[in-house]
Amino acid sequence: MSSRWIDRLRHALGFRLALWYAVIFVVSSLAVTGLTYFLLASSLQQRDREIIENSLTEYVRSYREGGLAALSRTIANDQAAGRREGLFVRVLGQHEQLTFLSMPGPPSEFDLGRLQTPGWGIAPSRRQNIVLEVASVQLADGTLIQVGKSTESREVLLQRFRDVAGLVTLTVVLIALVGGTVLTRSALRPVDHLIEAVRGVTRTGRMDARVPVRQTGDAVDELSGLFNLMLARIEALVEGMRGALDNVAHDLRTPMARLRGIAETALGETRTPDDYREALADCLEESDRIVTMLEVLMDISEAETGTMRLERRPTEIAAVVRDAVELYRDVAEDRQLTIHEDLPPALSVVGDPARLRQVLTNLLDNAIKYTPPGGRIEVTARQDGPDVVVSVADSGTGVPPGDLPRIWERLYRGDASRSERGLGLGLSLVRAVVHAHGGKVAVESTPGEGSVFTIHLPSGN
Ligand code: ADP
Repeated sequence: MSSRWIDRLRHALGFRLALWYAVIFVVSSLAVTGLTYFLLASSLQQRDREIIENSLTEYVRSYREGGLAALSRTIANDQAAGRREGLFVRVLGQHEQLTFLSMPGPPSEFDLGRLQTPGWGIAPSRRQNIVLEVASVQLADGTLIQVGKSTESREVLLQRFRDVAGLVTLTVVLIALVGGTVLTRSALRPVDHLIEAVRGVTRTGRMDARVPVRQTGDAVDELSGLFNLMLARIEALVEGMRGALDNVAHDLRTPMARLRGIAETALGETRTPDDYREALADCLEESDRIVTMLEVLMDISEAETGTMRLERRPTEIAAVVRDAVELYRDVAEDRQLTIHEDLPPALSVVGDPARLRQVLTNLLDNAIKYTPPGGRIEVTARQDGPDVVVSVADSGTGVPPGDLPRIWERLYRGDASRSERGLGLGLSLVRAVVHAHGGKVAVESTPGEGSVFTIHLPSGN
């Protein structure tokens, strides 16, 4: 993924978020303003209609009681008292003779031509964008009494509301845009840091970049923390693999030189066919040794760097130990050694049975190699707190105190061990595999009396 592409995506994402934020903000404020406007307009209309209806009822009663004269008096009283100002009141006689009793504005203002029927009617203004709302009642004698009210005052109020709402909406849009941009920027800042870190890693190949964690506890913060953890893990793995590769290359140099030496010596001068055969057999043996060594070195490196594939499952330790002991029973008998077991059942660990068997066979192999004939080997297992502890004790040569810290090192072989077969890798593999299982190893040894190798493994119970 090119950095320009990431940049574009980031900006597009930031822009889209800000835009969405602004759109939602503006749309919701428009909806609220619109609803308020609608409610205000309809309640104003409702109020006007109530005034018209009440006035009409009263004027009809007045007309019925005393005719046109009484109605005129009522209207004059209303006007003198400052009530029902600005009302349109008209009486349409039987023979269509007109009597205007009250009229808001000049008579020519509204087009009254279509107001000839009872019920609600509307007369549009000839000058402005307003109307005259009129309610009419027809009396038994055919007289039509009409009361109306201009929407002008209502319109003035609504126009003012529209002006204010427009101003408010403009302010809201500005706030939404600025707020959206600020919020998006601050929300995307951790993402920017992530991108910076990824860029650094891809550009330099170095894994020591870290993203600042703000300790806010939100999802992005958690992602940053996990990202740092992942980088640390990858860094450790890469370092481990690099070290392992160096070690393997270094450790193979000696046997490779030995192999080359055998071939060089054989080719150095003319020899008999038997000499060549012997040299070839040595080469073969040495190359087998190298292959075995390479395999074990790779196993150790994988276990140490945490890349060893372990098929972990609940495993009964007694069964694993018994399998390993059975493998060595005959060899031990040949060397006149006795193997004793003290293995309580139902001791279980979560681990890879094949790898654990390999640990046990390595320890037994050593015990047999370094114990003189007539000796005794004892394998025991026990529960110790959260651990299962397995010990392999022998009555062998023991390890000199000075050698004890070094026996776990790769390729280390004690001086007294040179006569025995071995690569000096057995204990390194034991330690690496036990550590990969979350356990630990220990040794106690007294030269001339014997050694006790102990492994602690987290219990599976
Ligand atoms: P190897 O046995 O191939 O030499 P290991 O890594 O298994 O390599 O052991 C390293 C060294 O530790 C041995 O060379 C030996 O000196 C010492 N050692 C290991 N196990 C025992 C034992 N049971 N008794 C005495 N010495 C031992």
